[in-house]
Amino acid sequence: MDPNPQTKKFLFHFKKIVHWTVHLMSTNSSSNLTIKILIGMFMGVFLGSIINYFQLSGEFIETYLLNGLIDIGGRVFLSSLKLLVVPMVFVSLVAGAGSLDDIKKLGRLGSKTFGLYVATTALAIALALFVSEIFDPGQGFIIQGSTSFQAEEAPSLVDVIVNIFPSNPVEAMVKAEMLQIIVFAILFGVGISLAGEAGKRILGTFNDLNEIIMKMVLILIELAPYGVFCLLTKVFSSQGLGAIIPMAKYFFIVLFCLVLHVVVVYSLILKVMGKLSPVKFFKKYYEVMLFAFSTSSSNATLPVNLEVTEKKLGVHNSVASFTIPLGATVNMDGTAIMQGVATVFVAQVYGVELGFQGYLMTILTATLASIGTAGVPGVGLVMLAMVFKQVGLPVEGIGLIIGVDRLLDMTRTAVNVCGDAIVSCIVAKSEGQFDETVFNS
Ligand code: ASP
Repeated sequence: MDPNPQTKKFLFHFKKIVHWTVHLMSTNSSSNLTIKILIGMFMGVFLGSIINYFQLSGEFIETYLLNGLIDIGGRVFLSSLKLLVVPMVFVSLVAGAGSLDDIKKLGRLGSKTFGLYVATTALAIALALFVSEIFDPGQGFIIQGSTSFQAEEAPSLVDVIVNIFPSNPVEAMVKAEMLQIIVFAILFGVGISLAGEAGKRILGTFNDLNEIIMKMVLILIELAPYGVFCLLTKVFSSQGLGAIIPMAKYFFIVLFCLVLHVVVVYSLILKVMGKLSPVKFFKKYYEVMLFAFSTSSSNATLPVNLEVTEKKLGVHNSVASFTIPLGATVNMDGTAIMQGVATVFVAQVYGVELGFQGYLMTILTATLASIGTAGVPGVGLVMLAMVFKQVGLPVEGIGLIIGVDRLLDMTRTAVNVCGDAIVSCIVAKSEGQFDETVFNS
């Protein structure tokens, strides 16, 4: 194959970018993993944007690079993260629930966590609706051509509730049904704590397994800079930043609300409810947010989230093993914010008056939708169909925002995981399961 001049030129620059990336990464000591991840992210965004901007194509770029090397790197990285999710959630939660000497504690932990998750999500949508009302995301937007969106069937509320309870634990694990695994693991852990000597023996094994899985997470995290580079190159090569222009108002309002929620609401919760320093929290936690940003998946971020929440933030395993996996599925403040702004945007574009009742309905359904949203890329958009149906908006409206959703998905996932860790800290502190010396170290 003799590459054409355009490909040759690209190859020349590509080699330079790869050379810089590897050079920058190798000149930073291994303790600076976060810096390496940031370099990987930056280089990925840069390379992907160049490919997209100059519309670079050809056999080499498409077949060998984007759909070859880069695709393999990104997918292997994602698979290796997902690989640990099910064993980690199960083992960690069994160890956590099994070590609780008082079963009543579990009930208290559950209700506090769930209550805080729902409250922060409702707050997030209320904030999104309020800001959207001020800045009018849909004003002046003209629909060009016909929009179409084939809504996938969103599950009914009854199904969402029934699906929490597994009939076959093995099937739940095979399908990675997070809530079902949580229910089974809690039951197993409670069984352990009630089983006396036999329970203690098996608990020791689960504690050992937990340590081993944590070590596996550390090994895989080392791959992150390269994985992140591949994932972002792929996204930005197909999603040019140009897609933002016609949707700029909507895009930046969602972004603004996400930042506001993290900087104001989360910081206040940490400071007022937890008496903890938000600066210290974010200094330790932003690495997890980078993971979430690059993978667009709360589930894939779970192993890193659990590791950091326990080892760097100081939340005891008996709390974190429950709150973090639960949060990956039921707590999605970022997704709820996108749904709030999207509702106002589509209502304004189609000239639908929402009214006070419409807003209340949006808060209610978007909270429920975010509980039923699995922590995987793009699901927030599927659940948005449920919100639109409830408030009487045309589901085709989703077709308008789909173009910029991939980029917003990355950002909202970072907020989703952050909310889980914040609630974990607050709950752990109130339960006396929080090591402040680790947090402040
Ligand atoms: N990607 C999001 C998450 O994993 C879900 C979504 O909003 O689509 O948390």
